[in-house]
Amino acid sequence: MRILVTGGAGYIGSHTVVQLAAAGHDVVIVDNFANAKRSVVPRLEALTGTTIPVHAFDLTDRVRTDELFATEHLDAVIHFAGLKAVGESARKPLEYYENNLGSTFSLLAAMRRHDVGRLVFSSSATVYGDRAPVPYREDYEPLAAVNPYGRTKVMIEHVLADAAAADESLKVAVLRYFNPIGAHPSGTIGEDPLGIPNNLLPIIAQVAVGRRDKLSVFGDDYPTADGTCERDYIHVEDLAAGHLAALDALAEAQAPVNVWNLGTGRGTSVLEMVTAFEKASGTAIPYEIAGRREGDLAAYWADPTKAHAELGWRATRDIDDMCADTWRWQQGNPNGYPDA
Ligand code: NAD
Ligand code: UDP
Repeated sequence: MRILVTGGAGYIGSHTVVQLAAAGHDVVIVDNFANAKRSVVPRLEALTGTTIPVHAFDLTDRVRTDELFATEHLDAVIHFAGLKAVGESARKPLEYYENNLGSTFSLLAAMRRHDVGRLVFSSSATVYGDRAPVPYREDYEPLAAVNPYGRTKVMIEHVLADAAAADESLKVAVLRYFNPIGAHPSGTIGEDPLGIPNNLLPIIAQVAVGRRDKLSVFGDDYPTADGTCERDYIHVEDLAAGHLAALDALAEAQAPVNVWNLGTGRGTSVLEMVTAFEKASGTAIPYEIAGRREGDLAAYWADPTKAHAELGWRATRDIDDMCADTWRWQQGNPNGYPDA
């Protein structure tokens, strides 16, 4: 198939591009490089042994999006493009609604006009809000996020459900990711947050490589085994594989919208992650206990049984694999991708 990967220069998109190419698909990337560097592209081409068409524009531009579909003859779309920083979304809510919803509207319009009927969308565990019982199951309702970023995901899920219900040629996979970490085993692509990272693993990795002094652990008084928050960390390679499985399943899918959790089903605490990273890197990770971060939940993880039953997919890599691969990437690229 010829597959458009929106946000294909970003963290999860880039890893998925490599797996799509390995599976024999032709890949086309669209990315405005708002949160990615152009130097990822030659690395993707080296890993895939192919030349990848890259369209550098903002998907909220409906005219350019339509032109792209007119020229590329696509069979399916995997839609990663979006802004994703929770804190920033509270400061710039309109930018988040405009970007995340606007890019999805552009895509849906172009897909309808050019008869492209398969869409895989990047949703998030954040749509379960702060009331869902753990482990999170796909049939939980009502979806309710607690910040503007999360609300864009909830809104897009509703938009996709309505659009697919009204158009029988549209089949949608909604993938709710838990906490993606890790990197490609080659160490040549990985997560490269621009500016100060928000997420735990990039911060730990930067402490290990000497870019920052210490980790602040946000709270050790939660009702968990060691008092620190627990999350369901999933290797980005397992996550990428889930997209290929979802794309295949859409070919046979009866339902207009199919929701799958992509998680491991296991929680890991912040302090367990520190210990695992110290082991993988052979480096001490100095940390201090800081206050709780506003909006954090104590502990949650996925119920991944639906994805296993319906996609034949399950996560196979453990926390040690995730830390080893993150470390290989961070050590080889202490400052991330080169500017170019
Ligand atoms: P990322 O920022 O690395 O990748 C997103 C890419 O989209 C970037 O390269 C960015 O430049 C591009 N982009 C953003 N807006 C665009 C626009 N309007 N037009 C064209 N390109 C645009 O993020 P990621 O971690 O790879 O996340 C991919 C998707 O998965 C996002 O939708 C994110 O919300 C979702 N998600 C991520 C996580 C996570 O923890 N990383 C968890 C759950 C869901
Ligand atoms: N965390 C932390 N220190 C940091 C960043 C994160 O202790 O500098 C904790 C955070 O409180 C949460 C976990 O690590 O319990 C994962 O946070 P992250 O932001 O990576 O993902 P989230 O689960 O919030 O989406």
